[in-house]
Amino acid sequence: MVHVTGDVTVCCLDEHLENKIGNLTETPLAQLWSGETMQRWRAAHVDGRFADSGPLCTRCNWQSAGAAPDQTVDAWLDRLGDTELSRRWKARKQKRPERKKKR
Ligand code: SF4
Repeated sequence: MVHVTGDVTVCCLDEHLENKIGNLTETPLAQLWSGETMQRWRAAHVDGRFADSGPLCTRCNWQSAGAAPDQTVDAWLDRLGDTELSRRWKARKQKRPERKKKR
């Protein structure tokens, strides 16, 4: 989410900018989106390690509620090439309850 000041946070719940990753007056959005912080926090979410993500994520009640579709995560992991993270993701997918299908 981009605030009127140009501050960018990873989450629409983040009105106080606890998960701020930068400001558009200093850094292009594409660079923020694919930067080290975002990659590290994405990996933490894929792993279910919310305490290793943005500060707001640690105490968020919505953890994973708005998660990306599995296909999106799979494609990102393919591009990332982290085989160990992919292995852990596949293990987590197998353990979780079946998601309800959208009509
Ligand atoms: S865990 Fe909560 S605060 Fe973090 S990105 Fe997800 S919804 Fe936002």
